[in-house]
Amino acid sequence: MSATQLMVWIDQDLCTGDGICEEIAPDVFQGRDDGLWVVKEQANHFGEDIIFDGGDGPGQGPEGAKGVARVPDSQIDIVVESAEECPGECIMIEPYDAEMIANRI
Ligand code: SF4
Repeated sequence: MSATQLMVWIDQDLCTGDGICEEIAPDVFQGRDDGLWVVKEQANHFGEDIIFDGGDGPGQGPEGAKGVARVPDSQIDIVVESAEECPGECIMIEPYDAEMIANRI
C-alpha cells in the first residue's frame, strides 16, 4: 500500500481534453470516453483499481470534486508538474483528508 499525503481531482468543466496530465502521470490521470480527463487510483499503489469517471459500477467513483483520488507519494512530483502544465488549470491538489476519502463513493 502506498503512502499518501495528497489528494487530487479534476474540474471537468474546465478540462480542455488535451491529455497532457496523462502523458506526465499515467498512473493518476486517464481519459474518459467523452474526451475529458479524470483521476484514478491503481491497484499497484492502493490495492484496487478505482477510476473516478462518474460511473456507479464496480471500480468506478464520482467525477469532479467528489471524485478525489489519493496521490501515491511516489507520484507527487509528477502530479504537481501535471497541475502546473494543465492548460485548463483544472487539476486540484489538496492535503490528504481521511474523512473525504471515506465518503467519496
Ligand atoms: S492537462 Fe488539464 S486540461 Fe489537459 S486533459 Fe488533463 S486535466 Fe484536462
